[in-house]
Amino acid sequence: MSKIVGIDLGTTNSLVATVDSGIPYVIADAEGRRLTPSVVHVGGLGVEPVVGHKANRVRAVRPLETVYSVKRFMGRRGSDIPREEMLVTYPVRGDGAGPVEIDLHGCAWTPEEVSAEVLKKLKADAERALGGPVTRAVITVPAYFNDAQRQATVRAGELAGLTVERIVNEPTAAALAYGLDKLKDQSKIAVYDLGGGTFDLSVLELNKGVFQVLSTHGNTRLGGDDLDTRIVAFLAGKIREAGGPELLDTAETRVLQPETLPMLSRIREAAEEAKIRLSTDESVDIALPFLTSGFSFSLKFSRAELEALTRDILMRTRAHCLRALSDAKLEAKALDQVILVGGQTRMPLVRMLVGEWFACSEFEETRGDLRLGESYHAASGPVLNTGVNPDEAVAIGAAIQAEILSGGMKHLLLLDVTPLSLGLETFGGLMNVIIPRNTTIPVKAGEVFTTALDHQRSMMIHVLQGERERAQDNWSLGRFELEFERAPKGVPRVGVQFEIDANGILHALARDIRTGQQKIMDMKSAVDVSDADVQKMIEESVENAFDDLNARQWIEAKLKAGETLMATRKGMSEHAGELEPAYRQRVESALRVVEAALETEDSRSKIGDTPRLKAASQELDEATLQLADLMMDRAMEEMLRKQGLIQ
Ligand code: AMP
Repeated sequence: MSKIVGIDLGTTNSLVATVDSGIPYVIADAEGRRLTPSVVHVGGLGVEPVVGHKANRVRAVRPLETVYSVKRFMGRRGSDIPREEMLVTYPVRGDGAGPVEIDLHGCAWTPEEVSAEVLKKLKADAERALGGPVTRAVITVPAYFNDAQRQATVRAGELAGLTVERIVNEPTAAALAYGLDKLKDQSKIAVYDLGGGTFDLSVLELNKGVFQVLSTHGNTRLGGDDLDTRIVAFLAGKIREAGGPELLDTAETRVLQPETLPMLSRIREAAEEAKIRLSTDESVDIALPFLTSGFSFSLKFSRAELEALTRDILMRTRAHCLRALSDAKLEAKALDQVILVGGQTRMPLVRMLVGEWFACSEFEETRGDLRLGESYHAASGPVLNTGVNPDEAVAIGAAIQAEILSGGMKHLLLLDVTPLSLGLETFGGLMNVIIPRNTTIPVKAGEVFTTALDHQRSMMIHVLQGERERAQDNWSLGRFELEFERAPKGVPRVGVQFEIDANGILHALARDIRTGQQKIMDMKSAVDVSDADVQKMIEESVENAFDDLNARQWIEAKLKAGETLMATRKGMSEHAGELEPAYRQRVESALRVVEAALETEDSRSKIGDTPRLKAASQELDEATLQLADLMMDRAMEEMLRKQGLIQ
């Protein structure tokens, strides 16, 4: 079976991730790049499309045949899309109820077909990195995607030769990447996702390890690209002032002549690069040598200037945050965490603003020191968690979801507690719990056991997992035998210790306390149990709780009765001559009552009349008091005689 990969099919960039030995990571392409621009260039009819960085490079010079941001059109009818959203540089047709189509060299492409090209590239990168075919994937979509948009995403996957095992909401995937499924139940999380082209804020609630999207709000045309456009306009103005070419008209964003396109493409690249560098540096030098044959341009650009230039764009995300909170009927302070997703959230101003809006009041003071990987906890209000690479979080979460679906990573989800009780089978077929369910691991626990029969030479350690009272109803993890010298029952002492290490492996040890001889057995499946199986076991234990309790009480009463019967018979035969016939008769009849009570055991359920057996045993105990005294006296005399104290 092919490995299931996790794919973040983004508006601006797409990523593919996987989990190896429990560690999730983003798969790089042959050049070592982890982000693939979601851009497809179709050079001509019948020509193999070019995808990713290569397509992005020709985007400015071949605007009519290079498709970007196609995610906006996925699963949407032409009539549903506002006119301004149709304003892209490539020809989009979408009238009425029909799907959107993109005209490339006279050929109509659906958005799914374009997305499939991006997916094919990711699939090929994954296959190269993993060294085998990749045919299954988990793909993420925005929480606000409707059914048609989700179906279109599944179709894109299928066109790329992938079976889409699950569609996961992007904020949910991000929360999974942050490990927030480990938070306490009812935890509320806000996911602030500002990527290249889109923004959304989602409020999630965690319930029994499952996230539910309470609300989501955003703008599908607001993102890092808008900041780049603003910087380009600023630079175009500076270039004009410095005597360079006129690049944009006064409306600042319209291109004047096609021949300026390559120049604008260079300026846009420089603008984005400066913006990214200013997330770590206070100022940068923008250099554009030989913009035209006789004109070179350079400029010092500071973080403060960038912030002043773009602040209003970022401020536009605030209304969406407020709206999402109000839809979820929550105040910011009711949130436990706010996580940042999307490359643009690396910008310090974004972090500062989000910190402020969500009431991380002390955030401003520490802003200069705040780096990736750090979490900041305000005096009141939620934690601003920035521990995961913001542009990789969604892909990483998709990979974790994929791994869970493949049956791996259960230990990762359950590592912190034992999903079911662990114990061993004791005499009579009962489960003796050593480590109860929900115990935090790693853990070590033990108990001392002895033999129930005379002259036993070994003890069988049968390791069980489950919540049922009888051994047979639990799962057997394994068994091993510890041998020791034969001895009367109750004399051998065997210490049994269970240890679950941090990897979830159970080491079961049995040691003969007298000699120190020991045996250890390692069992891997102690915590590696599917959620469904755990659920089934717990449901069965609840359903059968009454019968199980009856069974345990019956078995315990039966064991005790069995012991008393044996001891009584032994005493009666050893001291037959010393007992009055009337007394012997009384004991005999009490014995028969116990035997009759034992016979009430049902052949199918293996449960008998416990109250009757307990009453009979009690009667026998009382009847044998005199016999017990006599046996004690004789044993004392024997001992004193052996020691030469009496004749
Ligand atoms: P995404 O859609 O999540 O891949 O985000 C892409 C956007 O994040 C683009 O607009 C990038 O310019 C922007 N971006 C990436 N890294 C940084 C950074 N270090 N600082 C600011 N913006 C960044």
